[in-house]
Amino acid sequence: MNIDEMKNLMKDLLKRDDVKYAIGYEKGTYGARVRPLFAINPDDVDNFILNPLCVPNLATYLTKEEKLPLPRGQTAEKKKILIVAKGCDTRSIINLIEEKGIAREDVIIFGVACTGVIDLKKLKKYLKGIPKVDDVIEEGEKYIVKAGDKSLEIPKDEIIATKCLTCEYPNPLIYDHLVGEMVEDVKEEDYKSIEELENMSQEERWAFWEDQFSECIRCYACRNICPMCYCKTCKVDDLSPQWIRRSVNTSENTAYHLMRAFHLAGRCIGCGECERACPKGIPLTKLYKKLNKEVKRIFNYVAGTDEKEIPVLSFFKPEDSAIDEDIL
Ligand code: SF4
Ligand code: SF4
Ligand code: SF4
Repeated sequence: MNIDEMKNLMKDLLKRDDVKYAIGYEKGTYGARVRPLFAINPDDVDNFILNPLCVPNLATYLTKEEKLPLPRGQTAEKKKILIVAKGCDTRSIINLIEEKGIAREDVIIFGVACTGVIDLKKLKKYLKGIPKVDDVIEEGEKYIVKAGDKSLEIPKDEIIATKCLTCEYPNPLIYDHLVGEMVEDVKEEDYKSIEELENMSQEERWAFWEDQFSECIRCYACRNICPMCYCKTCKVDDLSPQWIRRSVNTSENTAYHLMRAFHLAGRCIGCGECERACPKGIPLTKLYKKLNKEVKRIFNYVAGTDEKEIPVLSFFKPEDSAIDEDIL
């Protein structure tokens, strides 16, 4: 289906009593930004857009909005959520279903066959003097950026998000309705981005990450945006016992990042939202990619690819080795 057909179907679905709202994208208020829109009434859906600027992974709201602590005695409203999800985003939905974070029947997924999204930081240098982008259209190997009476043609490979250059799952892996047409799906898992780190000695790697973590201001944007960070209380917020102090220094920052990295081992689906949100430009996805590489090598498990799988760290097989020498 195309975007108009998607909107019409959503409007019909929103009239049903068992549907709560639809999560999609709308234009932001400045620059090329796009923001999430929660459409509660059918008419709200008119504001939905779908173009290469629709970067955010909306799956994060399935738990951030729906799993809030409720006052005693209240139970969560059990209604379906409609959600727009690109190929990579559908992996987070699968992971949430695997982990029983959400129930399959509680979501109606509009899976988008995706040909890539734009990195706003890369686009910025082309937007000098342009306060607001109206639309972006993909035409073959270029993007047409429309802003008022201006129209810029930019080669796709100049501004496409880096993660999309090596995307293995451009097509939705789970969906109720397909938006767009399935795209060629041939890229292989690519670990080039972590090769340099893997070739370092342990001491060099430690120095690299210590340097990065010392820059962290512990704003927790990386955690808050992550679709896989949905514990009711994050250990970093616990006060009794206090696992990690509030002070921002390399030691406490390192504790936070190592704890988060291990919590995401075999769970991170590589959407890159943490790195996109980080105001300090810390290359977080390299850390999680390495852990996922090892999880794949040791357990032959790739997060968010099969809703019937059991999450890798929640079960044990007798043949699992207790200590893997190669990882040390
Ligand atoms: S990583 Fe793949 S599915 Fe995700 S935005 Fe890029 S091309 Fe689309
Ligand atoms: S988003 Fe960046 S600066 Fe903020 S806590 Fe995460 S790594 Fe640190
Ligand atoms: S850790 Fe980062 S890349 Fe992985 S799922 Fe969370 S936001 Fe996406």
